[in-house]
Amino acid sequence: MKFVRFIYEENERYGLLENSSIALIDGTPFGEYRITDETVDREDIELLYPAPFSKAVCIGLNYRDHAEEFGLPIPETPVVFLKPSTSALSPEGVIEYPEMCHRLDYEAELAVVIGKTAKNVREEEAMDFILGYTIANDVTARDLQPKNGQWTIAKGFDTFMPLGPYISDEVDGSGLMITSRVNGETKQKSNTSNLIFPVPYLVSYLSHVMTLLPGDIISTGTPGGISGMQKGDKVEIEIEGLGILRNTIG
Ligand code: MG
Repeated sequence: MKFVRFIYEENERYGLLENSSIALIDGTPFGEYRITDETVDREDIELLYPAPFSKAVCIGLNYRDHAEEFGLPIPETPVVFLKPSTSALSPEGVIEYPEMCHRLDYEAELAVVIGKTAKNVREEEAMDFILGYTIANDVTARDLQPKNGQWTIAKGFDTFMPLGPYISDEVDGSGLMITSRVNGETKQKSNTSNLIFPVPYLVSYLSHVMTLLPGDIISTGTPGGISGMQKGDKVEIEIEGLGILRNTIG
């Protein structure tokens, strides 16, 4: 299934995307829900980011090529940072270029969406706590990111976490093509099979630190090929089976 979130008749609703049509559901995919007979045309609504998260837990340096790009050693434990809920941005939303930033980067990432409260989960059972996958852009003020140190400022601005367009439970996250483009030009191209720390390991590891709540995001890191964006640019991230996340820079 492909879950989407949107405003319909002034209410926040979830639905199941099927081609160009959306079947409305009562409830949310993070709890009990019922599929209704009501449908809405995809073109008639504006999608919101699909998972209103309490925290987005992001992994740095999780693709070998990206670590090499920075001249950093392959980490032995995951490099972890958080993005605030206020950084979330909907598909088609505008990424705001902050005044204090002089180099704004995209980072194409596979995002895990937690479906059930996860605490001290074993790796073998980790997949039971995942609702599905979506696409994230871990937007980064690169010039504000120190090589060694805290990344909260560089990655925590409002609009720095575009997510979407939908959550799919139909893909296997361990072998998906991941691509980013700026103004149509391909910038990153890799496969999630290159992750240093795979998804079940991350869910288990993080759940032994903090309780993962329904809707929370684990963004699994970006492959090599990062570079800057300018105001007016169009950035697209495509992951096999998860559609395309499109945003502009404003
Ligand atoms: Mg990242």
